[in-house]
Amino acid sequence: MQYNNLGKSGLQVSRLSLGSWLTFGKQIADETAADLMQLAYDNGINFFDNAEIYARGKSEEVMGEILKKKGWSRDSYIVSSKAFFGIGGELPTQKGLSRKHLVEACEAALKRFQLDYLDLYYCHRPDKQTPIEETVWTMHQLIMQGKILYWGTSEWSAQEIMEAHMFAKQNHLIGPIVEQPEYNMFVREKVEVEFSQIYKTVGLGTTVWSPLASGILSGKYNAEFPDGTRLGMEGLEWLKERNLTPERMQAVKELTMLSKELGLSLPIMSLAWCLKNPNVSTVILGASKVAQLQENLKALEAQALLTDEVMNRIEAILGNKPVFPAY
Ligand code: NDP
Repeated sequence: MQYNNLGKSGLQVSRLSLGSWLTFGKQIADETAADLMQLAYDNGINFFDNAEIYARGKSEEVMGEILKKKGWSRDSYIVSSKAFFGIGGELPTQKGLSRKHLVEACEAALKRFQLDYLDLYYCHRPDKQTPIEETVWTMHQLIMQGKILYWGTSEWSAQEIMEAHMFAKQNHLIGPIVEQPEYNMFVREKVEVEFSQIYKTVGLGTTVWSPLASGILSGKYNAEFPDGTRLGMEGLEWLKERNLTPERMQAVKELTMLSKELGLSLPIMSLAWCLKNPNVSTVILGASKVAQLQENLKALEAQALLTDEVMNRIEAILGNKPVFPAY
């Protein structure tokens, strides 16, 4: 496994990590979740990603129970949660990034996990109703109280991240070290263009999500629609619609042929493509089966096969290279 610092922090994160969205506490049995975590841990993955909204709190309970049963030393792994969406309550105080929700959500996540502290705590989306100052102060205070060690954002704009940084800096508070954006062959703008300056200035780390675009970049939707997969799950019609577009399907077919030429499976090539970006601190893997994770772990060594020439061929297939503004 390769490790690197998360942004300018001293936190060393494995380049591949494991997330639990839609799987833990929902799509897969707890035993499978435990097997996935064991395989990940045995292969040097040290970061497990979670959020209050995942299976409405159940994902944290399942992960917490597994961590307890495994008895791994607390200093050998990083565990995260995220607040913003709540766990289903519709009242205005039950979601968002107010001091009230962040403090209560952190407390609740710790209980569900049965942990004393979270290594990483994310603001899962920006909150237009709460001043950024209040959010920064609250995250700083949670760190001072020992309930979280580092904090970050998810799907914030570069401007919002900079606002949080500047406020933290002016007031000698601890600012965010990491952003969690979507990043895969189809969604590139934020990671490749929007954040390009702040990698250099504030030293932003990135923990990127949906590297396989929810599985479409595995190539398994190329022919007949397969049973028992994410895009066939009830309630996820929006995700299916977003991903199974004719343009994406055409690109996936061409990418599949290229991956075969390289002697790689498409998921391995797609994950290695994400890893090739030096501004990606860690690629968060999702898996519903142990065999998928076993396969995906091979992406680390596959990076060597993605030469400049191969990267150019991928670029030509995708035809979506984000453009830097001219000024
Ligand atoms: P992916 O895009 O990689 O999708 C993972 C899914 O693809 C798996 O659950 C599985 O679904 C399928 N899959 C994975 N590997 C293979 C394979 N080798 N062959 C065939 N199918 C495969 O990642 P996720 O969307 O799961 O995102 C990863 C993590 O990122 C999440 O768990 C979460 O922690 C985080 N995340 C964060 C978000 C945020 O807003 N901050 C939003 C979304 C995710 P199946 O078998 O069911 O088809």
